Amino acid sequence: MSALVLGHMNPDTDSIVAAIAAADLYSKRGFSVAAAAQGEATPETEFVLRKFGLCAPLVVKDVAGKELWLVDYSDLPQAPAGMDSATILGIVDHHKLGNMTTASPLEAWIWPVGCTNTVLKSMYDFYGIEIPKNIAGAMLCAILSDTVIFKSPTCTEADKKSVDALAKIAGISDVAALGMEMFKVKSAVDAPMKDLVFRDYKDFDMNGKKVGIGQLEVVDLSILAKVKDGLYAEIQKVKSEGRHSVFLLLTDIMKEGSEMLIVSDDPSVVEKAFGVKPDGKTVWLPGVMSRKKQVVPNFEKAFK
Ligand code: MG
Ligand code: MG
Ligand code: MG
Repeated sequence: MSALVLGHMNPDTDSIVAAIAAADLYSKRGFSVAAAAQGEATPETEFVLRKFGLCAPLVVKDVAGKELWLVDYSDLPQAPAGMDSATILGIVDHHKLGNMTTASPLEAWIWPVGCTNTVLKSMYDFYGIEIPKNIAGAMLCAILSDTVIFKSPTCTEADKKSVDALAKIAGISDVAALGMEMFKVKSAVDAPMKDLVFRDYKDFDMNGKKVGIGQLEVVDLSILAKVKDGLYAEIQKVKSEGRHSVFLLLTDIMKEGSEMLIVSDDPSVVEKAFGVKPDGKTVWLPGVMSRKKQVVPNFEKAFK
């Protein structure tokens, strides 16, 4: 039985491309592996896979008894069913260390960089394995997606260097234009409200409270004007399913800030976390683009 290479729930481009790239790398190192994902590709990821002629990974919702190589997470709330009887062989990630643990030693590559695919680029180099041209192109897109074309505060020199090297391998001359093309695809909001809320959504355990944080990144916030009320009604529904709070970040990648929609048992956590008073059910957070670096840590403090 092949081990699965698997990213987080509600998979983004990084999770899916990292699973594909890591499966390529591990198989070339002699392991029997298959790339997997916890759900279907989003329109952005579909665009990337189509552009570079890659297949979407196998969708897996239960991992009981399976061997796993994790990519892009190490947090139990983002894991599939059956995790307690699965065996973790390794982790490649760029998030805070989560609450997973293992019974035996594992191979862990967890670096404070902007994207899992930046770590994978270094892993290919470490093992002296060549990156296939089409996988290099998709890895480059994953880095542009996670770092919001280098604008996110999570972006590091290592991410930029990796993109330069991957562009050479993939034969891509205008990286910024490819990034904008991808974010325009990502900005499309002609989908059911539930799909939009869960497109890039994560649950967190904050001091014993279940807190959901979603994010939609668009090239212009006006695109979201006509769906904002629908999104708000949808996150109210999500909150009513046993959560303390649900926050939805509407990120304008050109203005470099986020409007946050708020549904919470205790809305004062927002002011505690960001020092700005919400205007009813929403607040504008200038400069806030990264859930991982600018939103989750602030809320974790506010919830203490
Ligand atoms: Mg991710
Ligand atoms: Mg990532
Ligand atoms: Mg992201």
